[in-house]
Amino acid sequence: MNNDELLRRSLAAVWHPCTQMKSHETLPLIPIARGDGVWLEDQEGKRYLDGVSSWWVNLFGHRNPRINAALRDQLDQLEHVILAGFTHEPVVELSERLSALTGLGHAFYGSDGASATEIALKMSFHYWRNVGQPGKTGFISLQNSYHGETVGALSVTDVALFKDTYAPLLRQSTQMPSPDWRLAAPGESAEAYALRCAGTLEAYLEQHHAETAAFIVEPLIQCATGMAMHHPAYLQRARALCDRYDVHLIADEIAVGFGRTGTMFACEQADIRPDFICLSKGITGGYLPLSTVLTTDAVYAAFYDDAVTRGFLHSHSYTGNALACRAALATLDIFTNDDVIAANRTRATVFESLMEPLQAHPAIRHFRHRGMIWAFDVQTADPAFARNFYQAALQRGLLLRPIGNTVYFMPPYVISDEEMAQLVQGSLTIIDTLLP
Ligand SMILES: *Cc1c(COP(=O)(O)O)cnc(C)c1O
Repeated sequence: MNNDELLRRSLAAVWHPCTQMKSHETLPLIPIARGDGVWLEDQEGKRYLDGVSSWWVNLFGHRNPRINAALRDQLDQLEHVILAGFTHEPVVELSERLSALTGLGHAFYGSDGASATEIALKMSFHYWRNVGQPGKTGFISLQNSYHGETVGALSVTDVALFKDTYAPLLRQSTQMPSPDWRLAAPGESAEAYALRCAGTLEAYLEQHHAETAAFIVEPLIQCATGMAMHHPAYLQRARALCDRYDVHLIADEIAVGFGRTGTMFACEQADIRPDFICLSKGITGGYLPLSTVLTTDAVYAAFYDDAVTRGFLHSHSYTGNALACRAALATLDIFTNDDVIAANRTRATVFESLMEPLQAHPAIRHFRHRGMIWAFDVQTADPAFARNFYQAALQRGLLLRPIGNTVYFMPPYVISDEEMAQLVQGSLTIIDTLLP
C-alpha cells in the first residue's frame, strides 16, 4: 500500500487520539511502515527520528532484537490466559522483580496508565472503608497534574483542555499548588518554593485529613503539562504529611518510571516510599499495553478476609497478559545487563554539553533537565507555535511535539550522540525560522 492510499483509508476508518480530526484537512498524518532503533520509516523510505519515544513509551528502540526474541519465545509457550484463578511464570516473575525494585508488592495489573490510576484510587478508597474510616473519600492532586483521561483519572487530572467539557461527569477533587519551579518567586530557590507549596498541602491536610483518602502526585516531573520539574524536597514533605495525617500517597510514575528521571523510579531521588505506585508506559519497553499498581502489605492485608466484598473486585480482560509481562521482563533484563541507569548518566553528561547553544539562546527560558528528559520554553506569542514547530520538525525528519511553548526531548535511551545533536541543531534552526 502506498503512503497516499494508507492516509486516505486511515482518515476514513481510524479515529486518532487527542486530535480534532478536521485538523487533518491541512495537517497530514504520517504513515509509518517500520521502526529501527530511534528511527521510524514510511513506505517510501522517509525517516523520522523519534525524539518523543512514541509518546514516552519506547526505551530501547523500535524493533529491539532482545525484546523481539523474548516475545517470539513467549509466543511459542503462552500468549494469554485469564488471571482470575490462574497464574503463569511471566506475571509471577515480573511481580517479584517490580517488588524488589519498588519496595512495594502485590502487583495488580491493568492495560493502560489511566487504568492504573483508577486502580490506585479505588484501592485507596476501599482500604479506608475496610479499616472502618468510610468518611475518607476525597482525593487531592496537584495543579497542572495529568493522571489519564478515563472518568476517574480525569477527575484528578488538572488540564482544562481535556477536562472542562466533561466536568459534569467528573467527581470533585482538590488541587494543591504545583511545586513547578518556574512558578517560584524571583530569587526563590526551587527547594524553597517546593517547601512553600508543601506548606499549603499541610494547611489543607490539617483541615481536611478526616475526609481525604489519598494524594496523587507525579514525582519530580509533571510531564504532560510541559515537563514541569520540581525539587525532591516537595515529595519528602508530602510523604511526612501523608504519614502524619493518615492519607495515602500515590506516586504516578507512569511517565517518569523506568529511568526517565535518572533513577529507576523518581521516588528514589526523594528517598521515599509511596503507599501506591502506578507504572505503565516504558514498562514493556514501548511494545505492549501494560500497567500495574503495587502497594504496601498493610493495604493488601486490609482486603484479605473471608468476606468477598472486602476483596478488590476489579478486573480487566487482559490483566497480566503473558506477552506484555514477557516484554516487561526483557526490558528489565536490558536494564540489568547493560547497567542502563549508569550508562544513561554518562550519556546525559554528553547530551547536556550538546544543549549549550539552546541554553544560551536569547528566546529560550527555563532550560531544564533531569535524567533523560530535557525541556525549555520558547518565548513567543504565536498561539500556533507548537503546531508549526511540530510540522517544521517533521519536514526535517524529526518527531518532536512541543506542549504549548515547551519544547522537550524524551528520546529512547539508545539514541546516539550524533542523533541527539540532530535534535538540538534541528530545534535551533526551527526556532530561528519560526521566531520573527
Ligand atoms: C500517560 C500518563 C497517564 C495515562 O496513561 P495512558 O496509558 O495514556 O492511559 C497517567 N499518568 C501520567 C503521569 C502519564 O504521563
